Amino acid sequence: MLNKDISIEQIEMWLRETDEQKLETLWDAANTLRKEHVGDEVHLRGLIEISNYCVRQCAYCGLAAGNKNTTRYRMNADEIYACAEEAASYGYGTVVMQAGEDYGIKTDWLADIVKRIKENLPLAVTLSMGERPFDDLKTWRDAGADRYLLRFETSDSHLYKLIHPPLPKQTTDRFEILHHLQELGYETGSGVMIGIPSQTFTTLANDIDTFRRYDMDMIGVGPYIANPQSPLEIDGIDYPVAAADQVENTEMMTYKVVALTRLVCPEANIPSTTALATINKKSGRELGLSRGANIVMPNVTPVEYRSKYEIYPGKACLNETAKQCQGCLAARIASIGRTIGNGPGSRVHHA
Ligand code: SAH
Repeated sequence: MLNKDISIEQIEMWLRETDEQKLETLWDAANTLRKEHVGDEVHLRGLIEISNYCVRQCAYCGLAAGNKNTTRYRMNADEIYACAEEAASYGYGTVVMQAGEDYGIKTDWLADIVKRIKENLPLAVTLSMGERPFDDLKTWRDAGADRYLLRFETSDSHLYKLIHPPLPKQTTDRFEILHHLQELGYETGSGVMIGIPSQTFTTLANDIDTFRRYDMDMIGVGPYIANPQSPLEIDGIDYPVAAADQVENTEMMTYKVVALTRLVCPEANIPSTTALATINKKSGRELGLSRGANIVMPNVTPVEYRSKYEIYPGKACLNETAKQCQGCLAARIASIGRTIGNGPGSRVHHA
Protein backbone atom coordinates (compact mmCIF):
# COMPACT_ATOMS: atom_id res chain seq x y z
CA MET A 1 0.00 0.00 0.00
CA LEU A 2 1.85 3.07 -1.21
CA ASN A 3 -0.12 5.72 0.63
CA LYS A 4 -0.55 7.31 4.06
CA ASP A 5 -1.67 4.00 5.58
CA ILE A 6 1.51 2.12 4.75
CA SER A 7 2.45 -0.12 7.69
CA ILE A 8 5.68 0.28 9.67
CA GLU A 9 6.74 -3.17 8.44
CA GLN A 10 6.28 -2.08 4.85
CA ILE A 11 8.19 1.13 5.50
CA GLU A 12 11.09 -0.96 6.78
CA MET A 13 10.83 -3.27 3.78
CA TRP A 14 11.14 -0.31 1.42
CA LEU A 15 14.09 1.06 3.38
CA ARG A 16 15.82 -2.28 2.78
CA GLU A 17 14.86 -2.41 -0.90
CA THR A 18 17.81 -2.11 -3.30
CA ASP A 19 16.25 -3.16 -6.62
CA GLU A 20 16.30 0.05 -8.64
CA GLN A 21 13.37 -0.99 -10.79
CA LYS A 22 11.19 -1.67 -7.78
CA LEU A 23 12.26 1.63 -6.27
CA GLU A 24 10.86 3.40 -9.34
CA THR A 25 7.41 2.47 -8.01
CA LEU A 26 8.22 4.25 -4.75
CA TRP A 27 9.57 7.36 -6.51
CA ASP A 28 6.45 7.49 -8.71
CA ALA A 29 4.06 7.15 -5.78
CA ALA A 30 5.85 9.89 -3.82
CA ASN A 31 6.06 12.21 -6.81
CA THR A 32 2.37 11.74 -7.63
CA LEU A 33 1.33 12.46 -4.05
CA ARG A 34 3.61 15.48 -3.95
CA LYS A 35 1.99 16.89 -7.09
CA GLU A 36 -1.52 16.14 -5.85
CA HIS A 37 -1.12 17.69 -2.41
CA VAL A 38 1.44 20.48 -2.68
CA GLY A 39 1.65 21.01 -6.44
CA ASP A 40 4.54 21.79 -8.74
CA GLU A 41 5.67 24.91 -6.94
CA VAL A 42 8.97 24.75 -5.11
CA HIS A 43 9.00 27.20 -2.20
CA LEU A 44 12.29 28.81 -1.29
CA ARG A 45 13.26 29.56 2.30
CA GLY A 46 16.22 31.87 2.80
CA LEU A 47 18.46 30.41 5.49
CA ILE A 48 20.29 32.80 7.84
CA GLU A 49 22.78 31.09 10.15
CA ILE A 50 22.74 33.76 12.83
CA SER A 51 25.15 32.26 15.39
CA ASN A 52 27.41 29.24 15.80
CA TYR A 53 27.79 29.51 19.58
CA CYS A 54 26.36 26.45 21.27
CA VAL A 55 26.05 25.20 24.84
CA ARG A 56 25.26 21.62 23.79
CA GLN A 57 27.50 18.69 23.08
CA CYS A 58 25.53 16.90 20.35
CA ALA A 59 27.70 14.01 19.26
CA TYR A 60 27.10 14.47 15.53
CA CYS A 61 27.56 18.21 15.25
CA GLY A 62 30.58 20.40 14.52
CA LEU A 63 29.12 23.28 16.52
CA ALA A 64 29.32 21.24 19.75
CA ALA A 65 30.52 23.39 22.66
CA GLY A 66 33.66 21.30 23.10
CA ASN A 67 34.92 21.98 19.58
CA LYS A 68 37.72 24.46 20.14
CA ASN A 69 38.77 24.44 16.47
CA THR A 70 36.04 26.73 15.34
CA THR A 71 35.77 30.50 15.44
CA ARG A 72 32.52 31.54 17.02
CA TYR A 73 30.38 34.38 15.66
CA ARG A 74 27.00 35.92 16.31
CA MET A 75 25.51 38.22 13.68
CA ASN A 76 24.15 41.58 14.82
CA ALA A 77 20.55 42.68 14.36
CA ASP A 78 21.25 44.91 11.36
CA GLU A 79 23.22 42.19 9.59
CA ILE A 80 20.38 39.74 10.10
CA TYR A 81 17.79 42.23 8.90
CA ALA A 82 19.89 42.96 5.79
CA CYS A 83 19.89 39.23 4.96
CA ALA A 84 16.11 39.13 5.35
CA GLU A 85 15.80 42.12 3.02
CA GLU A 86 18.00 40.39 0.50
CA ALA A 87 15.89 37.22 0.71
CA ALA A 88 12.75 39.28 0.13
CA SER A 89 14.39 41.01 -2.84
CA TYR A 90 14.80 37.61 -4.53
CA GLY A 91 11.11 36.87 -3.96
CA TYR A 92 11.69 34.28 -1.24
CA GLY A 93 8.59 34.02 0.93
CA THR A 94 10.27 32.83 4.13
CA VAL A 95 13.41 33.36 6.14
CA VAL A 96 14.71 30.67 8.48
CA MET A 97 16.95 31.89 11.30
CA GLN A 98 19.05 29.05 12.63
CA ALA A 99 21.75 28.87 15.31
CA GLY A 100 23.49 26.69 17.81
CA GLU A 101 21.74 26.64 21.19
CA ASP A 102 23.08 30.05 22.08
CA TYR A 103 21.84 31.86 25.18
CA GLY A 104 23.81 34.89 24.02
CA ILE A 105 20.78 35.17 21.73
CA LYS A 106 18.63 37.00 24.25
CA THR A 107 14.92 36.34 24.14
CA ASP A 108 13.84 39.95 23.66
CA TRP A 109 16.63 40.73 21.24
CA LEU A 110 15.44 38.00 18.87
CA ALA A 111 11.79 38.97 19.46
CA ASP A 112 12.65 42.50 18.27
CA ILE A 113 14.29 41.13 15.14
CA VAL A 114 11.27 38.96 14.40
CA LYS A 115 8.97 41.98 14.85
CA ARG A 116 11.11 44.18 12.63
CA ILE A 117 11.04 41.59 9.84
CA LYS A 118 7.31 40.91 10.19
CA GLU A 119 6.46 44.63 10.20
CA ASN A 120 8.55 45.60 7.21
CA LEU A 121 8.98 42.62 4.90
CA PRO A 122 6.52 40.22 3.26
CA LEU A 123 8.08 37.18 4.88
CA ALA A 124 7.10 34.21 6.98
CA VAL A 125 9.62 33.73 9.79
CA THR A 126 10.92 30.34 10.86
CA LEU A 127 13.15 29.84 13.90
CA SER A 128 15.51 26.98 14.66
CA MET A 129 17.22 27.86 17.95
CA GLY A 130 17.37 24.45 19.63
CA GLU A 131 15.74 23.58 22.95
CA ARG A 132 14.89 26.96 24.34
CA PRO A 133 12.62 27.32 27.41
CA PHE A 134 8.87 27.40 26.76
CA ASP A 135 8.69 31.09 27.73
CA ASP A 136 11.16 31.98 24.97
CA LEU A 137 9.17 30.02 22.42
CA LYS A 138 6.02 31.85 23.49
CA THR A 139 7.68 35.28 23.39
CA TRP A 140 8.90 34.66 19.82
CA ARG A 141 5.52 33.34 18.74
CA ASP A 142 3.88 36.45 20.20
CA ALA A 143 6.43 38.57 18.32
CA GLY A 144 5.16 37.05 15.08
CA ALA A 145 7.32 33.99 14.40
CA ASP A 146 5.33 31.59 12.22
CA ARG A 147 7.28 28.35 12.32
CA TYR A 148 9.86 26.43 14.36
CA LEU A 149 12.21 23.64 13.32
CA LEU A 150 13.49 21.11 15.85
CA ARG A 151 14.56 17.71 14.60
CA PHE A 152 14.01 14.91 17.10
CA GLU A 153 17.08 13.25 15.50
CA THR A 154 16.05 9.67 16.40
CA SER A 155 13.03 7.95 17.94
CA ASP A 156 15.31 5.42 19.71
CA SER A 157 15.50 6.90 23.20
CA HIS A 158 18.71 5.06 24.08
CA LEU A 159 20.48 6.27 20.94
CA TYR A 160 19.10 9.75 21.57
CA LYS A 161 20.67 9.89 25.03
CA LEU A 162 24.02 8.88 23.57
CA ILE A 163 24.06 11.41 20.75
CA HIS A 164 22.32 14.23 22.55
CA PRO A 165 23.46 14.53 26.17
CA PRO A 166 21.35 16.80 28.37
CA LEU A 167 22.73 19.91 30.02
CA PRO A 168 23.79 19.32 33.64
CA LYS A 169 20.78 18.75 35.92
CA GLN A 170 18.29 18.96 33.08
CA THR A 171 16.32 16.48 31.07
CA THR A 172 16.00 16.76 27.34
CA ASP A 173 12.76 15.85 25.64
CA ARG A 174 12.37 17.17 22.14
CA PHE A 175 8.96 15.50 21.77
CA GLU A 176 7.62 17.55 24.65
CA ILE A 177 8.96 20.71 23.04
CA LEU A 178 7.45 19.76 19.66
CA HIS A 179 4.09 19.26 21.33
CA HIS A 180 4.40 22.64 23.01
CA LEU A 181 5.31 24.32 19.72
CA GLN A 182 2.17 22.86 18.15
CA GLU A 183 0.09 24.17 21.04
CA LEU A 184 1.55 27.64 20.61
CA GLY A 185 0.30 27.57 17.02
CA TYR A 186 3.67 27.35 15.33
CA GLU A 187 3.87 25.40 12.11
CA THR A 188 6.15 22.75 13.48
CA GLY A 189 8.98 20.98 11.74
CA SER A 190 11.15 18.07 12.69
CA GLY A 191 13.33 15.45 11.12
CA VAL A 192 16.24 13.06 11.46
CA MET A 193 19.64 12.33 9.99
CA ILE A 194 19.97 9.22 7.87
CA GLY A 195 22.70 6.71 8.60
CA ILE A 196 23.88 7.97 11.94
CA PRO A 197 25.96 5.26 13.67
CA SER A 198 23.72 2.69 15.43
CA GLN A 199 20.59 3.79 13.57
CA THR A 200 18.84 0.59 12.45
CA PHE A 201 16.24 0.06 9.75
CA THR A 202 13.65 -0.56 12.46
CA THR A 203 14.55 2.71 14.18
CA LEU A 204 14.36 4.65 10.93
CA ALA A 205 10.97 3.10 10.05
CA ASN A 206 9.80 4.21 13.50
CA ASP A 207 11.15 7.71 12.86
CA ILE A 208 9.04 7.92 9.70
CA ASP A 209 5.99 6.62 11.55
CA THR A 210 6.62 9.29 14.19
CA PHE A 211 6.40 12.05 11.52
CA ARG A 212 2.99 10.61 10.68
CA ARG A 213 1.79 10.38 14.30
CA TYR A 214 2.78 13.98 15.01
CA ASP A 215 1.34 15.17 11.70
CA MET A 216 4.45 17.32 11.25
CA ASP A 217 4.02 20.40 9.07
CA MET A 218 7.63 20.32 7.88
CA ILE A 219 10.07 17.42 7.75
CA GLY A 220 13.78 17.75 7.01
CA VAL A 221 15.82 14.61 6.39
CA GLY A 222 19.37 14.41 5.14
CA PRO A 223 22.32 12.04 5.22
CA TYR A 224 24.56 12.00 8.27
CA ILE A 225 27.89 13.48 7.19
CA ALA A 226 30.74 12.58 9.54
CA ASN A 227 32.47 15.60 11.01
CA PRO A 228 35.99 14.78 12.27
CA GLN A 229 35.62 17.64 14.79
CA SER A 230 32.48 16.17 16.38
CA PRO A 231 32.36 14.12 19.61
CA LEU A 232 30.98 11.11 17.72
CA GLU A 233 33.92 10.95 15.34
CA ILE A 234 36.44 11.65 18.08
CA ASP A 235 35.09 9.25 20.73
CA GLY A 236 32.88 6.80 18.80
CA ILE A 237 29.64 5.44 20.18
CA ASP A 238 29.13 2.48 22.48
CA TYR A 239 25.92 0.96 21.10
CA PRO A 240 26.64 -2.11 19.02
CA VAL A 241 24.13 -3.02 16.30
CA ALA A 242 24.39 -5.83 13.74
CA ALA A 243 26.04 -4.68 10.51
CA ALA A 244 23.02 -5.94 8.54
CA ASP A 245 20.74 -3.64 10.55
CA GLN A 246 22.84 -0.47 10.34
CA VAL A 247 21.37 2.12 7.96
CA GLU A 248 23.90 3.53 5.51
CA ASN A 249 24.26 7.27 5.15
CA THR A 250 23.91 7.14 1.38
CA GLU A 251 22.21 9.21 -1.23
CA MET A 252 19.89 6.33 -2.18
CA MET A 253 18.81 5.82 1.43
CA THR A 254 18.02 9.54 1.63
CA TYR A 255 15.70 9.37 -1.40
CA LYS A 256 13.91 6.40 0.13
CA VAL A 257 13.32 8.35 3.34
CA VAL A 258 12.18 11.47 1.44
CA ALA A 259 9.74 9.38 -0.61
CA LEU A 260 8.37 7.42 2.36
CA THR A 261 8.00 10.67 4.31
CA ARG A 262 5.89 12.09 1.47
CA LEU A 263 3.68 8.97 1.62
CA VAL A 264 3.00 9.28 5.35
CA CYS A 265 2.74 13.09 5.42
CA PRO A 266 1.33 14.00 1.99
CA GLU A 267 0.65 17.64 2.93
CA ALA A 268 3.95 18.38 4.60
CA ASN A 269 6.58 20.78 3.36
CA ILE A 270 9.64 18.63 2.75
CA PRO A 271 12.97 20.18 1.74
CA SER A 272 15.48 18.70 -0.62
CA THR A 273 18.23 19.35 1.93
CA THR A 274 21.68 20.89 1.70
CA ALA A 275 23.13 17.69 3.23
CA LEU A 276 21.71 15.75 0.29
CA ALA A 277 23.09 18.34 -2.15
CA THR A 278 26.45 17.96 -0.37
CA ILE A 279 26.76 14.25 -1.16
CA ASN A 280 25.55 14.70 -4.75
CA LYS A 281 26.42 18.22 -5.79
CA LYS A 282 25.50 17.55 -9.39
CA SER A 283 21.89 16.43 -9.08
CA GLY A 284 21.00 15.72 -5.42
CA ARG A 285 18.69 18.73 -5.14
CA GLU A 286 16.77 17.82 -8.29
CA LEU A 287 16.44 14.13 -7.41
CA GLY A 288 15.16 15.01 -3.94
CA LEU A 289 12.54 17.27 -5.54
CA SER A 290 11.56 14.51 -7.97
CA ARG A 291 11.11 11.92 -5.23
CA GLY A 292 8.83 13.73 -2.81
CA ALA A 293 10.39 17.05 -1.77
CA ASN A 294 8.87 20.48 -2.51
CA ILE A 295 11.11 22.96 -0.67
CA VAL A 296 14.65 24.29 -1.06
CA MET A 297 16.47 26.38 1.53
CA PRO A 298 18.97 28.65 -0.24
CA ASN A 299 21.59 30.05 2.09
CA VAL A 300 21.52 33.83 2.49
CA THR A 301 24.11 33.98 5.27
CA PRO A 302 27.00 36.33 4.40
CA VAL A 303 29.86 34.23 2.95
CA GLU A 304 32.25 35.41 5.72
CA TYR A 305 30.14 33.57 8.34
CA ARG A 306 29.04 30.59 6.30
CA SER A 307 32.22 28.59 6.49
CA LYS A 308 32.16 29.00 10.28
CA TYR A 309 28.73 27.40 10.54
CA GLU A 310 30.32 24.04 10.00
CA ILE A 311 27.81 21.47 11.25
CA TYR A 312 29.44 19.02 8.83
CA PRO A 313 32.30 19.45 6.36
CA GLY A 314 32.12 20.13 2.63
CA LYS A 315 28.72 21.81 2.71
CA ALA A 316 27.27 22.47 -0.75
CA CYS A 317 27.27 26.09 -1.97
CA LEU A 318 29.72 27.12 0.74
CA ASN A 319 31.37 29.94 -1.15
CA GLU A 320 28.52 31.07 -3.33
CA THR A 321 26.89 34.38 -2.58
CA ALA A 322 23.16 34.53 -1.92
CA LYS A 323 22.74 36.00 -5.40
CA GLN A 324 24.61 33.11 -7.02
CA CYS A 325 22.55 30.57 -5.06
CA GLN A 326 19.37 32.18 -6.26
CA GLY A 327 20.35 31.94 -9.92
CA CYS A 328 21.66 28.40 -9.60
CA LEU A 329 18.55 27.09 -7.84
CA ALA A 330 16.16 28.82 -10.22
CA ALA A 331 17.89 27.03 -13.12
CA ARG A 332 17.85 23.66 -11.33
CA ILE A 333 14.13 23.97 -10.53
CA ALA A 334 13.28 24.96 -14.10
CA SER A 335 15.36 22.06 -15.45
CA ILE A 336 12.97 19.53 -13.90
CA GLY A 337 9.85 21.32 -15.10
CA ARG A 338 8.90 22.81 -11.75
CA THR A 339 8.11 26.42 -10.88
CA ILE A 340 9.13 28.68 -8.01
CA GLY A 341 6.36 29.31 -5.49
CA ASN A 342 5.25 32.79 -4.48
CA GLY A 343 4.18 33.81 -0.99
CA PRO A 344 4.89 32.10 2.32
CA GLY A 345 4.20 28.52 1.16
CA SER A 346 2.49 27.56 4.40
CA ARG A 347 1.45 24.01 5.14
CA VAL A 348 -1.69 23.07 3.20
CA HIS A 349 -4.61 21.27 4.82
CA HIS A 350 -6.78 19.03 2.71
CA ALA A 351 -9.86 17.26 3.91
N1 SAH B 1 20.82 24.07 17.24
C1 SAH B 1 19.69 23.77 16.37
C2 SAH B 1 20.13 23.69 14.91
C3 SAH B 1 21.03 22.53 14.66
S1 SAH B 1 21.64 22.32 13.05
C4 SAH B 1 19.06 22.48 16.82
O1 SAH B 1 19.69 21.73 17.56
O2 SAH B 1 17.91 22.25 16.45
C5 SAH B 1 20.29 21.59 12.22
C6 SAH B 1 20.35 20.09 11.97
O3 SAH B 1 21.54 19.71 11.29
C7 SAH B 1 20.37 19.22 13.19
O4 SAH B 1 19.09 19.11 13.76
C8 SAH B 1 20.90 17.89 12.65
O5 SAH B 1 19.85 17.00 12.30
C9 SAH B 1 21.67 18.33 11.39
N2 SAH B 1 23.09 17.92 11.52
C10 SAH B 1 23.92 18.18 12.55
N3 SAH B 1 25.12 17.58 12.37
C11 SAH B 1 25.03 16.91 11.20
C12 SAH B 1 25.94 16.07 10.47
N4 SAH B 1 27.16 15.80 10.92
N5 SAH B 1 25.51 15.56 9.30
C13 SAH B 1 24.28 15.83 8.83
N6 SAH B 1 23.38 16.60 9.47
C14 SAH B 1 23.75 17.14 10.64
